[in-house]
Amino acid sequence: MSTVNGGISFWYAQDGTPAPREPLPGDISADVCIVGGGYTGLWTAYYLKKAVPFLNITVLEAKFCGYGASGRNGGWLYNGIAGRDRYAKLHGHEAAVRLQQAMNATVGEVVDVCEQEKIDADVHRGGVLEVALSPAQLARLKAFHAAETAFGETDREMYGARETADRIRVTGAVGSSWTPHGARLHPVKLVKGLAAAVEALGVTIHESTPVTEIKPKHAVTPYGTVRAPYVLRCTEGFTASLTGQRRTWLPMNSSMIATEPLDDAQWESIGWDGRETLGDMAHAYMYAQRTADGRIALGGRGVPYRFGSKTDNDGRTQPQTIEALRDILTRFFPQLAGVRVDHAWSGVLGVPRDWCATVTLDRSTGLGWAGGYVGSGVATANLAARTLRDLIKEDSGQSGPTDLTALPWVNHKVRKWEPEPLRWLGVQTMYAAFRGADHRESTGHTAATDRVAVLANRLSGR
Ligand SMILES: Cc1cc2nc3c(=O)[nH]c(=O)nc-3n(C[C@H](O)[C@H](O)[C@H](O)COP(=O)(O)OP(=O)(O)OC[C@H]3O[C@@H](n4cnc5c(N)ncnc54)[C@H](O)[C@@H]3O)c2cc1C
Repeated sequence: MSTVNGGISFWYAQDGTPAPREPLPGDISADVCIVGGGYTGLWTAYYLKKAVPFLNITVLEAKFCGYGASGRNGGWLYNGIAGRDRYAKLHGHEAAVRLQQAMNATVGEVVDVCEQEKIDADVHRGGVLEVALSPAQLARLKAFHAAETAFGETDREMYGARETADRIRVTGAVGSSWTPHGARLHPVKLVKGLAAAVEALGVTIHESTPVTEIKPKHAVTPYGTVRAPYVLRCTEGFTASLTGQRRTWLPMNSSMIATEPLDDAQWESIGWDGRETLGDMAHAYMYAQRTADGRIALGGRGVPYRFGSKTDNDGRTQPQTIEALRDILTRFFPQLAGVRVDHAWSGVLGVPRDWCATVTLDRSTGLGWAGGYVGSGVATANLAARTLRDLIKEDSGQSGPTDLTALPWVNHKVRKWEPEPLRWLGVQTMYAAFRGADHRESTGHTAATDRVAVLANRLSGR
């Protein structure tokens, strides 16, 4: 059997695409209009409707709920948030610690709501294990471990080569850092369950309804306009397709492969009994999970960005990306050289110019948005949604400020990306630099991070 490429994602191939919901029938009014039916939009609808049941909430989704990154991701539900270190510089260490604590709690919140709503998303709370495969990666891992501990993660553990191998036998691993604040899940089972839960609460979802323009109190579509005091943009990597938003968040590609199910002997040779989500410390990092049905789903960067902020074609990825991911798989686990790759796919992340996730409500227009999560949106979308709920409740006089509305990522402003071709050239150069740096670090013996990577990070605003 050959590798299926695209078809949105392996997760949909496994779990099936949902029955389509009706498009917007014409002009309507609502109290809140949410644009985008991924985790951000759906969690926001969920928490708002739960908090204020009489609200009339409409979700408009261009394709179907979970069509974007929420139906394609690596299933790492974890406590990482893009921009925390910058928020520490801007607002002080203590504010960033509060943000980190909120993220730690978010992992448990998602797991709890899944239980309450009977969403069986193959959740396994095994934490996150990040491994180092070279002296330079080990030095970065130790610095990362120390930084996370300083942000309050006193339950994080550092392992040497032997202890790492006791957990998972990654060839060449010289150490690892583990945090309990993470879980593996099935992305599509989560997004489908969430959409069903939201509908059961009384929220209306219209699919196959692309919004072409968002303006104060209006979401415009080819089938009609939704008028609402609050219009929330939850479109992450697809944001560039909206009028006026071309340079807001850069759509960065991430690609994945899923192997065939491994047999008992193969799992015996690998270990990974704790089913931690697995990552490394490369500049163009990899991420992986052991799926509930015994496969390895593994992702990485591939071709990072398409000229003009174009997004992919229903998840297809480039053949050379599939090969590159397979190379990572067999570098980590050489005994899997003959293993079949059943599926390959890609999706887009939203990357702001300063690589900082944000959640914003403009009180003068009623326009809100959340995203720019880079590669860490599975848990962050939930925190963003609860924060949007609190911002709307505060703005509409139903409550005062809360701990969430005081977090440093709220109402953060950032400049736009450069026009083309600078945008394309910048991203290509950055990832070429990362690939070169990873290669030099993997073949060298120095613990210093490659200077080209340091420079690329600085220039890119990361
Ligand atoms: C391959 C891949 C792997 C990833 N792995 C991880 C991971 O393991 N852990 C992690 O934390 N994060 C991961 N991420 C990131 C994470 O998946 C996202 O940050 C998160 O899903 C974002 O959710 P969202 O709802 O904001 O955006 P999306 O899920 O992209 O949803 C946006 C929705 O808006 C719709 N839409 C867009 N434009 C319009 C419009 N104009 N009108 C109407 N609807 C519109 C889209 O169709 C889409 O359904 C990964 C992402 C990718 C692509």
